[in-house]
Amino acid sequence: MVKFINTSESLKKLVKDIYFGLSRQYKLKPNIIVEFFEDKKKFEGKIKRRLDALEAGVAYKNRLFLFVPEKLSTYTLWTKQNTRKIYLHEMAHAFNFQLNKEICPIWLEEGIASYLSSMYNERCLQLLFDKLIDFNDLFFKEDWNKQKTIIAYYQSASFVKYLARRYSTETVMSLKKKSTKDKAKFEQEFSKIFKRNLHSHISDWKAYLKNAKFKEINTKWLRDIVKNEKSQ
Ligand SMILES: [Zn+2]
Repeated sequence: MVKFINTSESLKKLVKDIYFGLSRQYKLKPNIIVEFFEDKKKFEGKIKRRLDALEAGVAYKNRLFLFVPEKLSTYTLWTKQNTRKIYLHEMAHAFNFQLNKEICPIWLEEGIASYLSSMYNERCLQLLFDKLIDFNDLFFKEDWNKQKTIIAYYQSASFVKYLARRYSTETVMSLKKKSTKDKAKFEQEFSKIFKRNLHSHISDWKAYLKNAKFKEINTKWLRDIVKNEKSQ
């Protein structure tokens, strides 16, 4: 069930649609509360921290805080056209929470949300191959927050995609179920589920990334990000 704090019928319909899609994939029916904001100050007051431009919504446990579509381009890097993906991304976090309350490793948490919502660009990663972040630095929240670049999200999504395509989305979700703050224990679970260790799968994923043919980037803001990152 989805409960809404304040919104229009058309937004409710969109969110419910996303909910039912995820509900089928996860085979879960969590209770989720969705609240919409038209004003950034009110949004930040609610979550008690500042938002950065990459953040178009926030998921906290089973609660979602979202900008209305019309305000996305005012306050974030995203636009109205990205609404469905953004809401799907945030809602996936709420479903993940139902699967397992532990959010570590963050690369898995964000990777699943970004993969399911198709919020990644692998050509961007290919161009920034030298800038890929060590997955060890994407495990804990504190480390992730230090990175918090688009590369962190995209590479997490791309790696989750690689796992989901080789095995299945269900298999990735079974790993999510075993998520734990204990890195060694997590890696053990990973090896059990994916037959080889994390390190060896990361090498395979990198080889795929390096050699695949991807479409060229067609958005200016992303081309600019690639240019900026390259020059750093
Ligand atoms: Zn996220």
